[in-house]
Amino acid sequence: MELSSPIYTISGIGYKRGEVLTAEAQIVTIEDLLNYFPYRHVDRSKFYHISECTEKMPYIQIIGEIIQFEYVGEGRASRLTAIFTDGTGTIELVWFKGTKYIEKSIKPRTRYIVFGKPSRFGSKINIAHPDIELYSDMNLRRSTGIQSMYNSTDKMKKNYLSSDNIRKYIYSILFNNNILIPETLPEYLIEKMHFTSREQAIKNIHFPKSVEALKIAEARLKFEELFYIQLSMLYQSQHRSRQYRGYIFSTIGDYFNQFYNKYLPFPLTNAQKRVIKEIRNDMRSGIQMNRLLQGDVGSGKTIVALLTALIALDNGYQACLMAPTEILANQHYDTISSLVAPLGITVKLLTGSTKKKEKEEILSDLANAGINIIIGTHALIEENVNFSNLGYVIIDEQHRFGVAQRAKLWNKNVSPPHVLVMTATPIPRTLAMTVYGDLEVSVIDELPPGRKPVTTKLLFDNRRGQVYDFIHKKIAEGRQIYIVYPLIQENEKIDLRDLEQGYKILTDIFTECKLVMVHGKMKQSEKDEAMRMFVTGEAKIMVATTVIEVGVNVPNASVMVIENAERFGLSQLHQLRGRVGRGADQSYCLLMSKYELTENTRKRLQIMCETNDGFKIAEADMSLRGPGDIDGLQQSGLPFDLKIANLAGDVNILSTARNVAKAILAEDEELTSPKNTLLKKKLQQMNQLKINWGVIS
Ligand code: ADP
Ligand code: MG
Repeated sequence: MELSSPIYTISGIGYKRGEVLTAEAQIVTIEDLLNYFPYRHVDRSKFYHISECTEKMPYIQIIGEIIQFEYVGEGRASRLTAIFTDGTGTIELVWFKGTKYIEKSIKPRTRYIVFGKPSRFGSKINIAHPDIELYSDMNLRRSTGIQSMYNSTDKMKKNYLSSDNIRKYIYSILFNNNILIPETLPEYLIEKMHFTSREQAIKNIHFPKSVEALKIAEARLKFEELFYIQLSMLYQSQHRSRQYRGYIFSTIGDYFNQFYNKYLPFPLTNAQKRVIKEIRNDMRSGIQMNRLLQGDVGSGKTIVALLTALIALDNGYQACLMAPTEILANQHYDTISSLVAPLGITVKLLTGSTKKKEKEEILSDLANAGINIIIGTHALIEENVNFSNLGYVIIDEQHRFGVAQRAKLWNKNVSPPHVLVMTATPIPRTLAMTVYGDLEVSVIDELPPGRKPVTTKLLFDNRRGQVYDFIHKKIAEGRQIYIVYPLIQENEKIDLRDLEQGYKILTDIFTECKLVMVHGKMKQSEKDEAMRMFVTGEAKIMVATTVIEVGVNVPNASVMVIENAERFGLSQLHQLRGRVGRGADQSYCLLMSKYELTENTRKRLQIMCETNDGFKIAEADMSLRGPGDIDGLQQSGLPFDLKIANLAGDVNILSTARNVAKAILAEDEELTSPKNTLLKKKLQQMNQLKINWGVIS
């Protein structure tokens, strides 16, 4: 058996499950499965006494019995509690969901193993939604060590690919087969950093013999992951500056000047002016621009994109603006084409739903210099889209695009066009510099004047009645409302059910208006239709998951209610909140949460109430989030997927990895020295995968 063998060759997996693994988790080879790292480890090696329990403990297990069940609270706030004892004391178990089932299936006065994270609630310690197992079927397999937990989607679970099954398959590869796991870091580096071997690290990340062994494995794997990203970035940026000449936009001409002097709809903020200058300087430098434009939601990135596009036009080039969704592309098209209407420029829109005949016309005009600015979605990178002279590419909300997709735009002219990537992801500046390699970064750190900051409040379920009254009032005033539910993979089914139930309840409560629902599992056409109804104001309330996070612009929406706010990452809450506060009215963001919050979560939500500054929020988020927390930064906007490292928690490893990579390149620029053969080989592999930081950035 080899690392590169297809996953379906593992006995028990086969074609069908292999396909599910590929579709749901991008696992194709045996190596991919070994690199499917657990998202958490739980210590089942020890039983605790209730008398020892404190809220400071991580996940623990206790043996004992339930004395009695009790329902507490009413309606949506109701929960099931159980008094659990082991003779040394009592602890409370709490369920907010699936309570009927729990009550039916779990018997009082029977010995169980309870597993979960203790928290403090007033003077009592409780465990919410514990895992419970009958003591008599005490599953020794599961209770004798540190156990790895794997992400598994509903589809995977249905195909016998639960966390437990995945663990079993990985076990069979690592311990029942003679699999060879070659070393992937040079010997001298392993020695210098005191790392364990790749083979030991892989074995111990999945089946750690002890907490120490797990830490040693993690240290090596995290470093390796970040190190190769850094090495690849630094290597390529070193090449890029030598390799790519850029088109020289030497003049500022009529388009720019006319627009700037006569048609600019508002004075630019100083930050906007500064950023435009930075871009302008790159455009005439002779080196191809690769710039990241960071600016909080609402900071006015669109006008920067437009003004700089006009410079491209002034120099005889075409510009293209690519957005991640049709809704966004449409919005950009509407905004930009009306802004430049007086200039006599041709702006066109190309998306998946452009009609065939119109599309043909657009394609032919694009190739024959009949179009100056083209706005669109992925449709723009298709093979048959040819430009007569593309000089400038703007990519909005970069993290929604795959790496390879972005690279395609590079080949649409003889030399690569200048590239501006715009993102609202508030990654702290220091971190941005590190993760985006030597990419230039521009920041709009100032909001347009007159913005009323969104008023944010943290509310518990007991205030729900008031929240609904408030929404009734705002609807009567003509405003629109977002109501957002969490949806995370681990919990997919329950989350979707919550959303649908929530929608039903809300439909019964808000009979005075139309409501629409949007979530990621809907068909694109249904989603678009629901969005359309909200954008046009036909629907007053949008009930949605985080699919609305990116870009929807409905200035009339002035209230956002976020359910189970405690389950969102701060950066995500901030992105969501950016959907309101776009109009003239005072806007509100109401964070609904359960009452039992950990100290840390309460602090995080408090920050949302205190500031509207995305950078402050990102920094606070990073410092509050403990290592090992998987939610967050890496999902919210990095040009690469991290399998094990976590940028919030592993900043130190990141900077070590970067320094080591720098030192190696300083000594051996082309990595030709024999001791670096492995490094060179790995970079070439990464290149084949088109992980080309220079190109995407
Ligand atoms: P984002 O950076 O989130 O893409 P937009 O470009 O959509 O922000 O701008 C948000 C809103 O602010 C738009 O309605 C835009 O017209 C307005 N805006 C942008 N810049 C300014 C400015 N300097 N003064 C006043 N309003 C502005
Ligand atoms: Mg925008």
